[in-house]
Amino acid sequence: MECLYCKGALVRGAVPFTIHREGYHFVLDKAPAWVCDQCAEPVFDETDVDAIQRVVADLDQQVMSLGNAA
Ligand SMILES: [Zn+2]
Repeated sequence: MECLYCKGALVRGAVPFTIHREGYHFVLDKAPAWVCDQCAEPVFDETDVDAIQRVVADLDQQVMSLGNAA
């Protein structure tokens, strides 16, 4: 794989990842990603994104039930 921006080599790494949702912000300090060794631009694998989406879907439900309980 090569970087979409500068064609540099992508290496396995971790980058901060933030999702803004209704009612909360979800921040991962180290989300799995491919990171360009030249420009440091992260590229997310579809499987990694899927895994994060599953966590967020779960959180959505938990936060919703919190809201209902209040
Ligand atoms: Zn790059």
